[in-house]
Amino acid sequence: EKNVKLSRIHRLSDNLVNRICAGEVVERPASALKEILENSVDAGATSITIELAEGGSKLIKVSDNGSGIIKDDLPLALERHATSKIDNEDDLYAIRTLGFRGEGLASIASVSWFSLASKVAGESIGYQLSSHFGEVREITPVGINSGTVVEVKDIYHNIPARKKFMKSETTEYQHCRTVFERIAVSYPQIAMKISHNAKEIYNLTDGDLLTRISSLFGNQYKERYFAITEFASEELTLSGYVYHPAYLENNKNVQLFFVNGRYVRDKVIQNAIKQGFSGVLHHEHNPNYVLFLTINPADIDVNVHPSKSEVRFKDSGAIHSFISRSLKKSLAVPLGNNTAISESANN
Ligand code: ADP
Ligand code: MG
Repeated sequence: EKNVKLSRIHRLSDNLVNRICAGEVVERPASALKEILENSVDAGATSITIELAEGGSKLIKVSDNGSGIIKDDLPLALERHATSKIDNEDDLYAIRTLGFRGEGLASIASVSWFSLASKVAGESIGYQLSSHFGEVREITPVGINSGTVVEVKDIYHNIPARKKFMKSETTEYQHCRTVFERIAVSYPQIAMKISHNAKEIYNLTDGDLLTRISSLFGNQYKERYFAITEFASEELTLSGYVYHPAYLENNKNVQLFFVNGRYVRDKVIQNAIKQGFSGVLHHEHNPNYVLFLTINPADIDVNVHPSKSEVRFKDSGAIHSFISRSLKKSLAVPLGNNTAISESANN
């Protein structure tokens, strides 16, 4: 006879579910930073300040002047699948916010000492919720400016296996910096400050895209960027800047593509860009660009992965040809004529 042990099926506790899912949403400190910054952007902040310590593994603190959260909603903000950003199934096909899955804060809070302080404009006092590896401790009144302050301390301290998996402080810091740069370049109208171990890294005032690009990636060569502005329709446009191929010898490796404000890496897009540059770029060189595609949210699916850095296009062939055609046309303009081109790409 075999000795078969019968195990009963039971539901996992919310906290355990959050920790399991945290592995996908918050792979490392930088992914926590990304989720928190996206929330500040979604809250309409015009100013965001970030403090990091030890590559984000000791501290990630983000203060914004956005809409804030009312006291009664603070515990909900930490609950999985609780969000203010979508409501029904139709909303899933009309996503204009960076977040919508309602699992960012739940995941982060389950693996850290976490604090969420917020004050809504017009209220005299704010409230602060603190939690300890997913267990809410208390909600207390706190005197803060309108907006929200999120603090994440000792991330993954309760998960030794994950903690071990984290790389050196320098590596984790670099990932945080990359996350910051992507959001900073995508929202030049938001003033953004970041420090690491009390040392200021960037202090960016709000301004236009080209100024933001040059403060992030090098100041001296503004004239070497080429403006791209192409319209296919009201709901399909390509805009941004490409670095002129003639100057590529001493360029930075800037390859940033955003779909509806969201940084994405996508094979179709990369290939389209390559094609757009073919003929003007030596095949050994990589193009440098900061490009924004805006598209009707109904024509993409952003709900591909918890990190939301992938999208699926309804008609990827059309997107491919729009991007490559637009770039080809813009790059055909001789060097030095650095003005925006705004004809229809359909011509
Ligand atoms: P999601 O962003 O997908 O909605 P999160 O877990 O990241 O899920 O956040 C949960 C909710 O908490 C958000 O829907 C939002 O209502 C609120 N929230 C989080 N961060 C902020 C913030 N900085 N300002 C205002 N509200 C916030
Ligand atoms: Mg979010």
